[in-house]
Amino acid sequence: MLTNKFSKITNAKDLLFLAFSYFFVLNNLLSNEIYYVQSPKAKLLVAPKIDSQGATLNIGSSLKKVSESGLFYQVRYGEKTGFVSKLFISAFPPGKQIKLGTTHSSNEQALGRQRASDFTKTAAARGLSETEKLRLRGASSDFDFDSVRWLENIGQASVEQSLDNVQVIDESKNSSFFDFSSNPLPSETKAEVKMGRILAAKLIQKYGLVKNEEFTIYLNNLGQSIAQITSRQDLSFRFGILDSSEINAFACPGGFIFLTRAAVENTKNESELVGILSHEISHVVLNHHGEIATDNAFLEIISSLLATPSIEIVSTASLTALEAYEEEFYEKGRDIETEYEADESAVQLMVQLGYLPHNFIKYIENLSKIPNENSILKTHPSTSQRVNKIENILKSMGSISDLKNSDEAYIQAKKSL
Ligand SMILES: [Zn+2]
Repeated sequence: MLTNKFSKITNAKDLLFLAFSYFFVLNNLLSNEIYYVQSPKAKLLVAPKIDSQGATLNIGSSLKKVSESGLFYQVRYGEKTGFVSKLFISAFPPGKQIKLGTTHSSNEQALGRQRASDFTKTAAARGLSETEKLRLRGASSDFDFDSVRWLENIGQASVEQSLDNVQVIDESKNSSFFDFSSNPLPSETKAEVKMGRILAAKLIQKYGLVKNEEFTIYLNNLGQSIAQITSRQDLSFRFGILDSSEINAFACPGGFIFLTRAAVENTKNESELVGILSHEISHVVLNHHGEIATDNAFLEIISSLLATPSIEIVSTASLTALEAYEEEFYEKGRDIETEYEADESAVQLMVQLGYLPHNFIKYIENLSKIPNENSILKTHPSTSQRVNKIENILKSMGSISDLKNSDEAYIQAKKSL
């Protein structure tokens, strides 16, 4: 019987059918999207609403996506089905965090310059400059990487400082089965940060960075307290102030967030600032910048060879992508739906952190009252539409408690600006 059956399927047609069947089954299995819990705030909710009932999910738990409902995924977790906010989960398992702001000795800087000049000579000799044009920092006045590094180092200082008043959670106790720190950093994250740094350097070159340590440290503490409840634990978020009298805010991929000086000055309390920061962080967390192509192998090798603080490489491929980003983000604005989505998720983040989202509404409302203020309107939907949308979200929620009513740190830091 058995041998008979085997002999039956050995003909080519049957084998092909079998192969196709397996492929179909395998493909189906793979298309089940798996997400991993990244935030201590993640819950398996009974309804797609941030304030609905639900059990807390452990960091690292894997969830199978069933369907999508606005800012929520319906997921299966073991035998259970429920909803989870997109802000708290990621397609990657928890792992390492990208490190920014390393300090190098002047010796290394000299070595970097030497390598760079050797490289340009070699590249010229091989005719590489024609095919793989690379721009080296210093040769171009379009980018201010020095200021990006200033901001990266400020961020580091603020993390150390904030450890004093932040409860340190021991991940190993939370999740006994996995050692997340051994998971490698996804190459997508590296590409995203690389692109974000270039955009940051370009923005800073255009507007100038306000190098006020006191306020920047305060801003980074505040921003990082928001970012650390999101799914982007692989990023080291940095928050900077651009020297501009136009009210605006920008989110670069990789977690480089900028507020203009006027935007900061226009805030009246910490909650309003948290609203703006949460909106911009959401653009990064919800991947509104889309997929970023990783550099080709050649550029990877060159970049690693030249990776010292005195040298930053901006490839022509990056430059092309950069132009597209600039136009979309800073000139004509993002897609209107992504703006509403960022507003809605800002509300989610504010509620989770105990800030009143009503303050965010007030800030947006105030923008419309400022005469001749149209910079933010160039890149964001009309203020009345935004306010309406947020008010509708708040109406569907229960009472929200204001847990952060002290503005002492905010007032103190703002004085220095
Ligand atoms: Zn926005």
